[in-house]
Amino acid sequence: MLLKKQRTKIIAMGKQFMAAGLVHDGQGNLSIYDSASGYIAITPSAVPYAEREIEDICVVNLQGELIEGRWLPTSEIALHLIFYQQRNDVQAVVHTHAAFATAFSITGQAVLPILLNESAMALGGPVPVAPYGRPGTQELAQLTCDAAKDGNAAIMAHHGLVTVGSSLREAYRATLAVEATAQALFYARGMGGVVQALDDDEVFSLYEMGKNYVPQEVQRALKR
Ligand SMILES: [Zn+2]
Repeated sequence: MLLKKQRTKIIAMGKQFMAAGLVHDGQGNLSIYDSASGYIAITPSAVPYAEREIEDICVVNLQGELIEGRWLPTSEIALHLIFYQQRNDVQAVVHTHAAFATAFSITGQAVLPILLNESAMALGGPVPVAPYGRPGTQELAQLTCDAAKDGNAAIMAHHGLVTVGSSLREAYRATLAVEATAQALFYARGMGGVVQALDDDEVFSLYEMGKNYVPQEVQRALKR
C-alpha cells in the first residue's frame, strides 16, 4: 500500500478535527505531501470521518491523478495541489469550515488580526481573507494560495479556512489558532471596549518561540 503512514495520520487527525468540532460528517479535507515519492495522501470525496479506513484515503500525484484508492479525492483537490506545486515549505494542507473563522469570512474585513499569544505562536502574523471563488475551482485555489503568500493560513470569503504547514500537526495547530482567534474576537466585541491586537514585535518573538511548541492534544493524536 502506498503512503500507509501518511494515510494513517490523516485518519487519526480527521478524528481529532471531528472531536475539536472543526469538521463534521465528510466536510473539510486534509492532505499530506510525500516529497520522496512525489505523491499526496488526501481525504476522499465520500465516506464520513467516523467511518474512514486507511484504504478510503486517496493517493494522487501532483497533477491530481488518482494513483491508488477506491474513491475520488475531495472535490477541493485543486486547493491542496496548488500549495504543493507552488511552495516547497508546505507538506500538509487542511481545509475546514471552522465556525468562527467561517463567520469572519463574511464580515468584509480584509485580515483577522493577531489577538492571542496562541495565534502569534502558531501563525506569526494576521490572517488574510482571500476573495470569493467558487468551490472546487482552480480560481478558488489560486486566490487562496495568493492570499496566503508565504504564511500558513488564509480565510476564504463566504466559505471557510485553509491552513498549511511542514506537517499535518503544524497545519492542525494553525487551524486551531485561527479558530480560537475568531472566536475570541466574537466574544470580545460583545464585551465593549476596543479590541487590541498584539504588538508586531511581540508577535514576531512569540512566533520564534512557538516553532518548537507542540500542543499535548496533538502529541496524543500523533501517537495513536
Ligand atoms: Zn470547503
